[in-house]
Amino acid sequence: MTLKEALAKAGEALIKNNIEDAPLESELLLCHTLRIDRVQLYLELDRKLTPEQEATFWQFVNRRLKDEPTAYITGRREFYGLDFYVDPAVLIPRPESELLVEQALKIARSAPINTIADIGTGCGAIAISLAKKLPEVKIYATDISAEALAVARINSKKHDVTARITLLQGNLLEALPEPVDLIIANLPYVRKRDIPKRGPLSFEPLVALDGGAAGLDKIRQLCRQLSGKLRPNGGLLLEIGRGQGEAVTELLRRLFPSALIEVTPDLAGIKRAVRVCLKAVSRER
Ligand code: GLN
Repeated sequence: MTLKEALAKAGEALIKNNIEDAPLESELLLCHTLRIDRVQLYLELDRKLTPEQEATFWQFVNRRLKDEPTAYITGRREFYGLDFYVDPAVLIPRPESELLVEQALKIARSAPINTIADIGTGCGAIAISLAKKLPEVKIYATDISAEALAVARINSKKHDVTARITLLQGNLLEALPEPVDLIIANLPYVRKRDIPKRGPLSFEPLVALDGGAAGLDKIRQLCRQLSGKLRPNGGLLLEIGRGQGEAVTELLRRLFPSALIEVTPDLAGIKRAVRVCLKAVSRER
């Protein structure tokens, strides 16, 4: 069987199982089988798979058909143009979280920023993307999970930013040693009852998804830890889930009545990024 035929057959099987992006996923699985990149794959479409390669490829396809995310099968995922190592200790970075990176860069362009903290860094995608774009900024990246931090460390090395990112283990802001100019966080915000027992999401770490009954537990907790963790005129940038815009804005308004709050939609039009500019962070409740 040629690579082209293998792709067609796998694509068909994935489509039948309602897997989005079936052609792309088949390509990623085949690239992983052959240890080549997609450019090489396109150049060698008429090449024949060896029986061993074919067997390995179908093992991967079958895992995908049983809902295991492609990123965990291949051990990698692209985010903001960078290739990240991922495993089931971390949430797979989502394209919509690139909005948070873009917003942070916008903030950094409009005012000088010396320090940023990425809270709940997971594989380190946000912290490392920012480190690459903001070479002058010192970055802290925290996570409650030691396993996740090990993944972030691998990615930090891979992208040559270990000297610029300080990895810290702790619950939300607890491990942060000094106030920073910007706190950025894609916290767990899925409502507990919405977390599926099956399907691709069930492969991802619960600790990275579970936001409690309304999905807002971690966001609320972080806000309560804010005192002393932001520099004067510091800001907070949060990712939120579909339909959470109003509840989060209301919560933030209650906690920080004088703050400036701005909500930005992602490419799908879903309110996704919430920016909070605090004049003075004194209200801890
Ligand atoms: N964006 C993820 C999802 O919808 C959730 C990530 C999170 O809780 N921060 O599956």
